[in-house]
Amino acid sequence: MPRQLFVTTALPYANAGFHIGHMMEYIQADIWVRYQRMQGVAIDFVCADDTHGAPIMIAAEKAGQTPQQFVADIAAGRKQYLDGFHISFDNWHSTDGPENHELARQIYRDLRDNPDGSLIEIRTIAQFFDPEKNMFLPDRFIKGECPKCHAKDQYGDNCEVCGAVYAPTDLIHPYSALSGATPVLKDSEHYFFKLSDARCVDFLAKWTQDGKLQLEVANKVKEWFSVRTNPDGTQSEGLGDWDISRDAPYFGIEIPDAPGKYFYVWLDAPIGYLASLKNLLGKRGLDYDAYMANPELEQYHFIGKDIVTFHTLFWPATLFFSGRKTPDNIFVHGFLTVNNGEKMSKSRGTGLDPLKYLKLGMNPEWLRYYLAAKLSARNEDIDFNAHDFMARVNSDLIGKYINIASRAAGFLTKRFEGRLGEVPEDGAALLHQLRQQSDSIEVLYAARECAKALRETMLLADQVNAYVDTNKPWDLAKQTGMDARLQGVCTVCIKAFRVLTCYLKPVLPELARQVEQFLNIAPLSFANVREPLPARHVIGTYQHLMQRVTPEQLDALFESKQTVATVEQAQVAPKTGSKPAPAGMPSNADVPGGEALAPTIGIQDFAKIDLRIAKIMHCEAVEDSTKLLRLTLDVGEKDETGQPRLRNVLSGIASAYRPEELVGKLTVMVANLAPRKMKFGISEGMVLAANHADEATAPGIYLLNPWPGAQPGMRVH
Ligand SMILES: [Zn+2]
Repeated sequence: MPRQLFVTTALPYANAGFHIGHMMEYIQADIWVRYQRMQGVAIDFVCADDTHGAPIMIAAEKAGQTPQQFVADIAAGRKQYLDGFHISFDNWHSTDGPENHELARQIYRDLRDNPDGSLIEIRTIAQFFDPEKNMFLPDRFIKGECPKCHAKDQYGDNCEVCGAVYAPTDLIHPYSALSGATPVLKDSEHYFFKLSDARCVDFLAKWTQDGKLQLEVANKVKEWFSVRTNPDGTQSEGLGDWDISRDAPYFGIEIPDAPGKYFYVWLDAPIGYLASLKNLLGKRGLDYDAYMANPELEQYHFIGKDIVTFHTLFWPATLFFSGRKTPDNIFVHGFLTVNNGEKMSKSRGTGLDPLKYLKLGMNPEWLRYYLAAKLSARNEDIDFNAHDFMARVNSDLIGKYINIASRAAGFLTKRFEGRLGEVPEDGAALLHQLRQQSDSIEVLYAARECAKALRETMLLADQVNAYVDTNKPWDLAKQTGMDARLQGVCTVCIKAFRVLTCYLKPVLPELARQVEQFLNIAPLSFANVREPLPARHVIGTYQHLMQRVTPEQLDALFESKQTVATVEQAQVAPKTGSKPAPAGMPSNADVPGGEALAPTIGIQDFAKIDLRIAKIMHCEAVEDSTKLLRLTLDVGEKDETGQPRLRNVLSGIASAYRPEELVGKLTVMVANLAPRKMKFGISEGMVLAANHADEATAPGIYLLNPWPGAQPGMRVH
């Protein structure tokens, strides 16, 4: 029986898009999940939007929407991030889904009706009430003067100036941040989870200290159990009871048998893990209760260090005392800072915008690799540094790893029809060593020690590169009688590349998929990579696997928001030129060539366009067309029989050139343009010509013509 795992990341609050801190957590969890899947483990990896609470209710009201509409809009924006960074969730759900309403209410009933004594208690407490908005005010919506340092406009729960922690009722001259009104104290019945109950304290003391939690997390949690003096002088009495109710109006789940009372968002949010799983199983037609009853089921939650209390105290206690399975572990990570800047908290998200990263055409696997190269199993902060990012991607990932394939594959394809040869003895020893590291790399991935796993992999890549440098295939290729040696050395490189790709696959899933295609092999796993490739295996043609990061891309990524908005507007604005401006519209006479410059692109975008020197072998008029000439072009290509392969290109230059003028001339063509079927035949590319956008201003079409010396097939950079 394979292991059965249920894995989640923390639920993001549905009031904004994702910031880079979210993406780091998803990438960390996704690497671990993909590693487990490669081991044949059955995993359900789920998440959901955390939709409830006063902040969303208030934000929706401001936006003129219902909270349901508001969170639906947020949910619709999630996919672009998740797909963009290859996050392989099996399900994305919402804590406002019916499964969560049902589960939260049932879990509450089970806590209330616990056969050994209820864990729910009702108490009357005095709370600030906004008489204008007619609602109880959440702590964050009460402001006033700090009772300690007398700073003005501080929140109801703590002072951002002196750091003091207090109750909203301690504020001097409190006011409602919603209406500005002075709040009044009003009694209300609140529902408490009795965390101070001896049963809870005993259970949690064991559950948090049995060795499963990260040591630094367990030590932190331990402090909360003891009576101590806080930095601000107040006394903590160990575990306190937890207020789990809020009064209407509140966007949330109504408490059973308590009209007008709602679960505090933090009660139902983690239950959203189970609700998302239940929703997934429902789609598959599977029974949730049977799934959860499996004694072998393992349950893991990836979270940030800011929500440890909820996940190591409230959540396991909620589950245990409602008679449910508790998590097998909670994996806590630190914060991500950007260029030594501020931390990425839930409410702040400056620095590196993940969506902008994608929009700039930056490779998501660069970021996955970079973060993985910094992530460990410890709860510690990591920093995104732009220079370090560029160095690690360009010199490690591309310089050490990708280069192995690009150096070897060409010789195999050109000289040996892609066929692998015999592995020479020195190469066999190297490959053996590479495969031997599998065990230790697997252990590191399983333990979430990504940085160490990548470090070991890159050390292996260093050895392969040393082998290449010693054997110099480019020299062997020039010597006669060295074919077998050349094929052998390149074979070692490709086999080594296959092993390294397997070791990187949890981090670089899309790249691995391309490599599997190029190597013409089944999906790699840690089990099958130990088996050598069959003798005389034939690989496919090497396609460039990954571009380098450029400083321009990083500059664009971190440039101010305003500049980007301008660029984006320019991208969606209709292309000017081509048509004369209608009367009353600004004319294009003052822009070069009659049309505004296209939006800035990165070098990577330019590199996608393959321009080649083409020789016009033949040229003729096209019957029934006054505009087109049919060109037959040589761009240095050969067909299977070794004969020159010529391209047929239709070009709208008939008004400017007679066919016989062009024969024998060189020009520049876009060689990788998808063939287009036109009325007069298929056009396999495009020749480059210049013209003014407004023919009346400057008539004429001018075909590009290289300086003497250029040869057909040369690439234009
Ligand atoms: Zn203060």
